[in-house]
Formats: sequence, structure tokens, C-alpha cells
Amino acid sequence: MIGEARARILGEIGPDVTLVAASKRQPDRRIEAILSAGQRVFGENRVQEAETRWGPRKASLTGLELRLIGPLQTNKAEAAVRLFDVIETLDRPKLLKALVAAVERTGVPPPDLLIQVNTGEEPQKAGVTVAELANLVALTREMWPGRLVGLMCIPPVEEPAGPHFALLRQLAEAHGLSQLSMGMSADYALAARLGATHVRVGSGLFGAREALPPATA
Ligand SMILES: *Cc1c(COP(=O)(O)O)cnc(C)c1O
Repeated sequence: MIGEARARILGEIGPDVTLVAASKRQPDRRIEAILSAGQRVFGENRVQEAETRWGPRKASLTGLELRLIGPLQTNKAEAAVRLFDVIETLDRPKLLKALVAAVERTGVPPPDLLIQVNTGEEPQKAGVTVAELANLVALTREMWPGRLVGLMCIPPVEEPAGPHFALLRQLAEAHGLSQLSMGMSADYALAARLGATHVRVGSGLFGAREALPPATA
């Protein structure tokens, strides 16, 4: 069933777009099913959940690519660079510095980076504003030449996504960035038409997520 959903989505987005399986809060049997279907690119929201899921599997899976798609705290920078190949949610200089320091300290290969842009200017949402983007692009390129590869966004739920995807593409082109991570279950096909290179699909691929774990004070 998951294999069929995956095949259908791959057909819709076409061969030039990468399907990132957003695996947060999905049970193990579904992870195993999608791995059997050949999926190797995964997006995770939380460092610890990702460590639990992928730590035991990572060494034995060839071609696995893990992408952090949730917000990152600086105190988890070291764990993040050890686990993730790509960090899509860079959004502040302090986090950039923590990531650089974590790579220097650990000696692990540096991750590729995307900057998350808060295209809807939502106060509660992570991401740089459009006005702040140029500064963070410049700082990232200066501190870490070659690591910055693209932009990511999560449009406001109550707005049509198209204009946000178009804006992200325009910003990426203006800054010479090739990766565009945009589109989720509700709008991945639209995102693919509007230039996404990566779509992040969770429930539309795996089925509904499990309940949130109880809050830890
Ligand atoms: C959960 C999540 C997704 C996938 O969401 P669905 O609507 O289940 O496809 C994509 N991107 C991010 C950043 C997410 O947190």
C-alpha cells in the first residue's frame, strides 16, 4: 500500500523531483515497508526521534539520505551534524556558527544546508524573513563556502501555497541556489510544477501519523 502511494507520487512529480519521505511519528512497520519499496531519502523533524529511527539502520542502508526538516536548537547541533546529510532549516547566524563549530569539533563531513524562509512572515514560524535572507546567504557563504545549496519554505496553512512557492523560487534564482524544498501532502504536485526540486510528503505517503508523544515539561 505504501509502495503504491509512493509510485503514484513519484509519477506525479516526475523524475526531476526528489521525494523526501517525511517520516515523523510513523510506526516502524511503515518505515520498513517504504524502505522495501526502495525509498532512501527521508525528512525528519526532531533530532532525537531521528536518532532512534535511523541510528540502528544507518550503517546497513546504502544510499540513505537524511534531511532535517524541523527547527534545530543550537545545543543539538553536534547530534544533528553526526546524523544528517542535509539540514534544511538554517534560519539564524547563531545556528550557523553552532553547526560550523560542531563539524570542526567532530570531524564529520559537513552537511549541505538550505535556508528556511518564512515566506508568510508568520510570527510563530521558524525561518528568516525575506528581508533577512540576503544577509544570511552572504554569511553562510563566507563562513562555510560551498555548503549552501538551496531554500525551503512551509507556506501558511490558510493561504494558497502557489504564491509562496513562486516567491521561494524567485529568491533561489536571485541568490543562485539550485535546491528548492517545497510542497507537502496537500500541494506537492503544485510545488513540483512551480519548480520544487524536493517535495516533503508525510501523511499522503505513509497514512496518518501517530499521536504526539506526551509533552516533556
Ligand atoms: C510533517 C512535515 C511535512 C509533511 O507533512 P504532510 O502534510 O504529512 O505531508 C513536510 N514538511 C515539514 C517541515 C513537516 O514538518
